[in-house]
Amino acid sequence: MNDVIEKISKTISETGKVVSEKTKLVGETARLNSKILSKEGVVRSNYSAIGEFYYNKYKDAPDADIADTVNEITEALNSIDEMKAQILSLKGAVKCVECGAECPIENSYCGHCGAKLVKPEPPKEEEPAEETEQTETASSEAAEAADEKPEVLEGEVIDTDKTEE
Ligand SMILES: [Zn+2]
Repeated sequence: MNDVIEKISKTISETGKVVSEKTKLVGETARLNSKILSKEGVVRSNYSAIGEFYYNKYKDAPDADIADTVNEITEALNSIDEMKAQILSLKGAVKCVECGAECPIENSYCGHCGAKLVKPEPPKEEEPAEETEQTETASSEAAEAADEKPEVLEGEVIDTDKTEE
């Protein structure tokens, strides 16, 4: 009977050892994984810093191998600027070139630093582009409408074109 109790207690203590070793292993692994994550963060942020450094230094003449990536950044930055300008114009505001303050677009001078406000011109550039698109859509719609009516003639017209060519 005592032997049995001894065996059982031995098994329990051995099991306890295995459990505590497993706990240690899990804890140590978690600790290392957390350190790895932290170091990976260091690598990423430094890669990013190198990228920004490279971009600012070579954006106008990037290596051919990386030119697409550099140009993608330039395009994204330009879109961001355009959209920020759009937000400003939606707000009826203009950004002071000197101090960066947002001022009402009808003001001639910055209310914060007194610098002369430069009014944005993009709307003038955008309007004709939109008009062109609309005209294109309208004309293509008109063409479609014209095509729809004389279905039989359409084929004849195309044939005439082909013979002319
Ligand atoms: Zn200002």
